[in-house]
Amino acid sequence: MKRLPTNPDVIVVGAGAAGLSAAKALQGRGFEVLVLEADDHVGGRCITDTSTFSTPFDRGGSWMHCAPINPLARLAEQAGDKLHKAPWDVTWAYADGQSLTEAEVAEYSLYQDQMWDEINKAGQGQKDVTVEAALPASRWKDTAKQWTTQMHAADADVTSAADVSRFEDAEGDWLVEGGLGAFIKRHHGDVAVRLNCPVTRIDYSGAGVLVETHQGTVSAGHVVVTVSTGVLAAENIQFHPALPAAKRSALEQLPMGLLNKVGFEFDPAWAAAHQGQLLDYGTGGDEFCTILFGFYETPLAVGFLAGRFADQVEAEGEGAASDYCLGALRDLFGADIDKSIRISSETAWRGCQHALGSYSYALPHGAGAREVLGQSIDEKIFFAGEATIPSAYATVHGAYQSGLKVAADIAAIAG
Ligand SMILES: Cc1cc2nc3c(=O)[nH]c(=O)nc-3n(C[C@H](O)[C@H](O)[C@H](O)COP(=O)(O)OP(=O)(O)OC[C@H]3O[C@@H](n4cnc5c(N)ncnc54)[C@H](O)[C@@H]3O)c2cc1C
Repeated sequence: MKRLPTNPDVIVVGAGAAGLSAAKALQGRGFEVLVLEADDHVGGRCITDTSTFSTPFDRGGSWMHCAPINPLARLAEQAGDKLHKAPWDVTWAYADGQSLTEAEVAEYSLYQDQMWDEINKAGQGQKDVTVEAALPASRWKDTAKQWTTQMHAADADVTSAADVSRFEDAEGDWLVEGGLGAFIKRHHGDVAVRLNCPVTRIDYSGAGVLVETHQGTVSAGHVVVTVSTGVLAAENIQFHPALPAAKRSALEQLPMGLLNKVGFEFDPAWAAAHQGQLLDYGTGGDEFCTILFGFYETPLAVGFLAGRFADQVEAEGEGAASDYCLGALRDLFGADIDKSIRISSETAWRGCQHALGSYSYALPHGAGAREVLGQSIDEKIFFAGEATIPSAYATVHGAYQSGLKVAADIAAIAG
């Protein structure tokens, strides 16, 4: 095993979108950077699986959300990557075992638009409320609110409307050919990463920082911590001195939600659904999934389960999420659908020890916690990652931007 380099300028903990962008930007400014990654791959929660299906499958982040204001979308355009820009619309909806008519689907979709307007309005009010409290009364409310659960990876009754209203949205969700994880990896190909090297302790009691791993201890002037709020809250990394109380309280306000995916590859001859079509399927209470068809204009469909229901299903064990989505597909297309499914695969992000969930959400009154989490300590420890960006949390582009921001902050101090 190669020895860890001695005394780099900056150590970056984690090689997800935030860590990679911080490292690349710092390298570009002439800093010597060491990136330490616990897992056996780069990309973190943005990872493309190229071995399960004949189409690349992003197990985490896949869309370049908010495309008009997404810097990754600009990079993809400059690189000449093929982009899939067509939107998905609700084509079919099942609520409590009943299939909605076309007219009902249209009403339901309209309610969804109104619902987001009301959440944003409520979020800008004086007093923070839950997303649930902001939802307008309607027969569609209980089904449509499951979309907020999917977006925030947490149920409407625990999510801050103020936090949601600070997210800077823009219409356009694009997919990049080959997968977003592969794109992030490609764009940061010049960043060297030490894989399988979890950081266990960060000591910032002295002049610089001492970063401990099982492969040894390295010192540096600064450290950039990009691990998820789940990993920080679980204290997988010990800090000496302990993190300040404000930082610990911010972590409590920003738990990890859960969004899991189920990929289904259909026989290419199967043509009952295509790119742009989407099924919403609820079986009562929080039991809900959405299935989107025709990723990259191929026979790959992806189902999504979120919030408490996703936790319950993940706890049931491997196969439970696939079974639930399969039930939805059977109800829509008939039991014969099984014959057209070549292979399926599901994620289990709660159990992923290096993430401990999918992405952060803010508890009511916790909207300001993102700024607190993002503040540096003693100009030695810098924090980046999706949870630190109020305008783009829970996204890959937010993580990417947070990395650029800390790189600029460090350069300002060191320069
Ligand atoms: C199912 C799912 C779907 C999503 N869909 C989208 C989407 O379509 N579009 C979108 O924009 N976003 C999406 N997201 C969110 C997006 O993937 C994340 O916000 C983003 O990838 C987070 O990047 P990050 O760099 O902040 O964190 P991470 O990617 O988690 O990076 C942190 C890194 O730190 C490593 N690490 C952990 N502990 C240690 C340690 N002790 N020492 C060293 N390294 C450590 C981790 O292994 C990881 O590689 C989705 C996420 C999930 C899970």
